Amino acid sequence: MRRIQYRLLAIIIFIGVIGMIAPIIYTKSLALNQAEDSIVEKLRSHSKTFKVYSKSSEKDTFQKMAEEYSIASKLRVTLIAADGTVIGESSLPMNQLLQMNNHLSRPEIIDAKDENEGYASRYSNTLKTEFIYFAKQVDQNQFGFKYIRVAQSLKSVENLATKYREFYYLIIAIIIFVIIIAWFVLKSWLTDPILELTKAASDISQGDLKRRVAIRTGVIEIDELADNMNKMTIALERGYTGIKRMEKVRSEFLGNVTHELKTPISSISGYVETLLEGAINDKTVNVAFLQRVLENAHRLEELVTDLVEISRIETGELKMNFDYFNIFDILKNLIKDAKQRNTNKRIKIDLDCPDKKLFVYGDKNRLDQVISNLLSNALRYTDEGYIKIKANRRDDEIVFSIIDTGIGITQKALKRIFERFYRTDKARDRQKGGTGLGLSIAKHIIEAHGSKVYVDTVEGKGSTFSFGVTTINPKQ
Ligand code: ADP
Repeated sequence: MRRIQYRLLAIIIFIGVIGMIAPIIYTKSLALNQAEDSIVEKLRSHSKTFKVYSKSSEKDTFQKMAEEYSIASKLRVTLIAADGTVIGESSLPMNQLLQMNNHLSRPEIIDAKDENEGYASRYSNTLKTEFIYFAKQVDQNQFGFKYIRVAQSLKSVENLATKYREFYYLIIAIIIFVIIIAWFVLKSWLTDPILELTKAASDISQGDLKRRVAIRTGVIEIDELADNMNKMTIALERGYTGIKRMEKVRSEFLGNVTHELKTPISSISGYVETLLEGAINDKTVNVAFLQRVLENAHRLEELVTDLVEISRIETGELKMNFDYFNIFDILKNLIKDAKQRNTNKRIKIDLDCPDKKLFVYGDKNRLDQVISNLLSNALRYTDEGYIKIKANRRDDEIVFSIIDTGIGITQKALKRIFERFYRTDKARDRQKGGTGLGLSIAKHIIEAHGSKVYVDTVEGKGSTFSFGVTTINPKQ
């Protein structure tokens, strides 16, 4: 009985049983009693009428009087003397009267003797049916008999009872039918869906995040519960996949960091060891080895700086300092710097600007860092041709493009170059310098400016990295 379906069934049956019992009790006690009461009432009034009738009757015997009144009233009429002798009986012929036994002991007569009137219902041996008898005492000197008794067969009441019984059976059949229907309806609307929801919840709690509840009952609350449960599972599934992915990214990142740091460190210790083992006195290599040590130390420094930078960006620790400023001088200085650094005579470096007033709204140092980074990449991956910084006005933006005629990027690599530590050709690129974090940092910074970095590249022909920065100053 601890299952909801059995409890519901118990409630339905309980209501059904009450529904069956109620009309039975009602008809039995009330309706039948009422029927009897009204018969008694009728008999009483006939007993009074009979008194009047007997006074005016022209019949010469009590027997005839009883017979005549009986025909008119359709009742059984009995007239009894004070000593209990039946002196008139409508339902028997005259010659059988003497055989009737003394009636003084009949309950209705006893009552009539004591209280003037009385009634009783019982089976009549004389007529073989159930009767209701009503007796009334009168003045024998005046009427010639002491008791008038009128009686009606209970056949009509019995007929009524039979009718009621048929009616009960009908009600019971209807109620059983309703119980069965109600049970099936409740089962399909309530208990079956609840069972399915429970099973699904148990499956999900055991880790089956692919589990969905497939029920549609048309009952709003149940359907909403199922929908919400599915939404919850989808959210859980997504959250779980997200966490899994983050864990993977984290461990990959850690692996990369370790690897990237190890390379320059082992280089440094290798050179220092060799120097200590005697190479320090070998004038042909000692300076060159120390230079390698310094290079690797610089590389380590660069790596650590980029790592700190990226971790600050990703933890949200790095705050942008937005300002409205002219970026022209920055571009000019970056170009000047690049020209100084560039030793390759086959590369031409240029700035292509509409005018000297290039006001933008953004973080001055960060934008400097991004353009410088893209410029370094261009220098790193270009052997001949030109490298250009181009600034274009477009709507409410200045679009910066860093263009080179370098090696370009394959379509496959293009999808990944913004990932941390990604390099198209690990060995070659590391030799060229760079940490593999530059584009990843640049992407974060430009996104913090509400913009995006676009790459346009043809393998073997060159690449263009571009992004827009707003010229609208929100502080004005
Ligand atoms: P790195 O510090 O190694 O340059 P980045 O994140 O800046 O790292 O760049 C990631 C990778 O994208 C580089 O290793 C390189 O393979 C490719 N890449 C970036 N810029 C260019 C470019 N201008 N031309 C060709 N390849 C480039």
